[in-house]
Amino acid sequence: MWYAKMYFSEKREFFQYDAAGMQGLPSVSRELPFLESLLSFLEMNCEELTPTLRRIAEDWNRLITEDDRQAGTNAMMELGGLGSRHIYLQLLYTRWYDRMTRMGVFGDRGSEEDRQMLEELRRLPEQLPLYQKQIRRFFELVLDVDSAGRDPQQQASQNYLYDAPKDPELFAFHPIPLSFEPVEPGRCSPVLYSGSIKDMIDYSLRSCVERDVTVRRCKNCGRWFPQTGRVSAEYCERPVPRGQQTCREAGAFRRWTKKQSDDPVFKAYRKEYKRRFAWIRAGRISDTDFYAWSEQAREMKKKCDRDIITLEEYVDWLKHP
Ligand SMILES: [Zn+2]
Repeated sequence: MWYAKMYFSEKREFFQYDAAGMQGLPSVSRELPFLESLLSFLEMNCEELTPTLRRIAEDWNRLITEDDRQAGTNAMMELGGLGSRHIYLQLLYTRWYDRMTRMGVFGDRGSEEDRQMLEELRRLPEQLPLYQKQIRRFFELVLDVDSAGRDPQQQASQNYLYDAPKDPELFAFHPIPLSFEPVEPGRCSPVLYSGSIKDMIDYSLRSCVERDVTVRRCKNCGRWFPQTGRVSAEYCERPVPRGQQTCREAGAFRRWTKKQSDDPVFKAYRKEYKRRFAWIRAGRISDTDFYAWSEQAREMKKKCDRDIITLEEYVDWLKHP
């Protein structure tokens, strides 16, 4: 039996898929930072996927009604392509591939199951953007620390009556297929055997509430990120293309330069430093004298930073050491 497993461990999330159901030998495995799959799903351009999804549905229809094998192959190729665009979409490939391989040589197709799967494919172009909307609403009302506050449990309990959301645009939870098994040496954990993309969204959102994880829009890139560490974090550490700085690194650097440029002690030091540096060229001072001065100036700056001397005393020293 095929499976699409998803589970969390520490600050990571794990996905394992196999169409043949080979436990321990998944054909696709992926490891991501906690919540990265949901956040990247939220940022996916669903409109771009619509033509592909429609073609897949039409090909599937031809396979199950006219026994058109080529159409079946085409559908599988396109589903494979979708799977590499987002890890949630890999579920479609796994499920449909499993169904394809169970079709016998003599037209064992067109069953109730096949027709239901066709309906599912046809609904996806509307469902995916709808899920995105419902996730965004859940963030705004429950998880976003800036709009909903720091207590997701409190917010969630106020926004649902039993399992029904009070706001019609809010995500609706349903029973999901959770199992429990060893996920790494010496550790067991709940494991979701997803039947649909919605199951994975459901599990991600409820896990945030259970773990008290809030989200926030990053001050640098504007994207949401999970606050798995400090709740005061303002910059994300979400994956960036190789070699680039994460927003957190970029933010730390910007804060440092901002702090320096606002600091009157540093400004005074910088101004005098530039003036004397120009003297070297003009031949008014030697390199050695300049560096000796700058070393002393930094020592004096430390004294000023610690309030041992006043800013006025420091400025006076800088000019007449
Ligand atoms: Zn960012």
